Amino acid sequence: MTVYLVGAGPGDPGLMTRRSLELIAAADVIVYDRLIPDGALDGARPDAELIFVGKEGGGEQVPQAQTDRLLLEHGARAGIVVRLKGGDPFVFGRGGEEAELLRAAGIEFEIVPGVTAGIAAPAYAGIPVTHRDLASSVAFLTGHEDPAKTESAHDWDALAAFPGTLCVYMGVRQLEGIAARLIRGGRDPDEPAALVQRGTFPTQRTVRATLGTLAVVAREQRIGAPAIAVFGPVAQMREQIAWFERRPLHGRTVAVTRARAQASGLAVRLAALGARVIEAPTIRIVELPGPVPDLTGVDLIVFSSANGVGAFFGRLAAAAVDARALAGLRVAAMGPGTARALAERGVRADIIPDRFIAEGMVEALSALTIARALIVGGREGRDVLADALTARGVAVEVAVVYENVVDPLTPETLTALAGADYLTFTSASSARNYLDAGGPVAGRRVSIGPATSAALTERGVSVDVEATPHDLDGLIGALVADAQS
Ligand code: SAH
Repeated sequence: MTVYLVGAGPGDPGLMTRRSLELIAAADVIVYDRLIPDGALDGARPDAELIFVGKEGGGEQVPQAQTDRLLLEHGARAGIVVRLKGGDPFVFGRGGEEAELLRAAGIEFEIVPGVTAGIAAPAYAGIPVTHRDLASSVAFLTGHEDPAKTESAHDWDALAAFPGTLCVYMGVRQLEGIAARLIRGGRDPDEPAALVQRGTFPTQRTVRATLGTLAVVAREQRIGAPAIAVFGPVAQMREQIAWFERRPLHGRTVAVTRARAQASGLAVRLAALGARVIEAPTIRIVELPGPVPDLTGVDLIVFSSANGVGAFFGRLAAAAVDARALAGLRVAAMGPGTARALAERGVRADIIPDRFIAEGMVEALSALTIARALIVGGREGRDVLADALTARGVAVEVAVVYENVVDPLTPETLTALAGADYLTFTSASSARNYLDAGGPVAGRRVSIGPATSAALTERGVSVDVEATPHDLDGLIGALVADAQS
């Protein structure tokens, strides 16, 4: 019975408020606009009704009357209705009108402010809208209408004389006229100016010019809506403090083909470097339930991956035992990620090889006396270690505690992948699965190491960048170096 008029912020999902996320998660109905962050609705309930009222492509906006009707109709029923808007609902968002309408109809409502584009887009462009030395006030205005109109909503002469920053929403198409009108009103044509397109999105672009030249420069650089124009000395601050567009992977689209459970760490790191990340996992890790492997007589346990650690401890928990089951055993971890997974469960790995592959483990174990070893891993694990230990006379047990399941790529993901600048491959199996799933390979291929590279070249897909060292740090470093070369 309550309608929430909610601001979704300017585009960066990280700028959504906690309150907005809570309400999206609780909503029965979400009526949303076009300019909302990617993935803003990911947290909605699967049974929530999602109604789009924005502009479809270059098409027409759903008429406000129709949006109003939807709000009244759904607001009159039981449940939570979220009206989700870009930026702040009360800043050029018609939130005031919708609240009036709801009040008149006796429907309860709440307002959830959002981060508005007029402040956030300049901020992400390195432009503070106020500054102690440069601007003590800021005005937000719509540039929607033609300033040549005689019945203007604006007092253009007053705006020209305004002694602070002007932030113009919806002004791209009228930029030329707006600047001309401000200059006619006495504003300095040489005043610094900037236009920030898709501010706070990974695709943000900014041009810097002057009040007199911004329209021409924007046209030359093909900067269009949605954009915020900033007029005032603060626009020059960008020269010193631009940051968002300077991040090494800004403007690049990078695909992560790792299994879903492992992808997010890499995705987060790439995004922090400015990349737009497409997660395209084709394998999913499924833990295989089963008994705790028999540890009688075992004096060495080898975990070949963090997934194996998770699944093994899942079995311990199911059997109502804990890490004490490993008491007295030597524990080997294939690499630092595996060791970390063990440490999180209170177990310190005794052995971590220098090279994080089976051959490295064989070397690391060569000096040890082992009677009975248990190797814990996945279905597609290699036999290298088991064979080497068996050849030494060690009794070897292998516990398969998880398997990789192949997932198809959705049509939307396939389309997004076709436009990716980089494709990252972090294991031979994920590379093979990606190709089996029909994943496009137009972008530059970045491989974590030789085994992964071989999996690609065997299928006729060449590798553009190979990481050294063969781990995630190496992969990220190599990708950044390639992007900057
Ligand atoms: N309520 C919104 C504004 C809606 S009006 C807010 O508070 O931000 C739509 C206009 O907002 C666009 O024409 C554009 O000028 C501006 N805008 C919205 N999102 C933007 C973004 N990410 N980058 C630049 N301008 C944006």
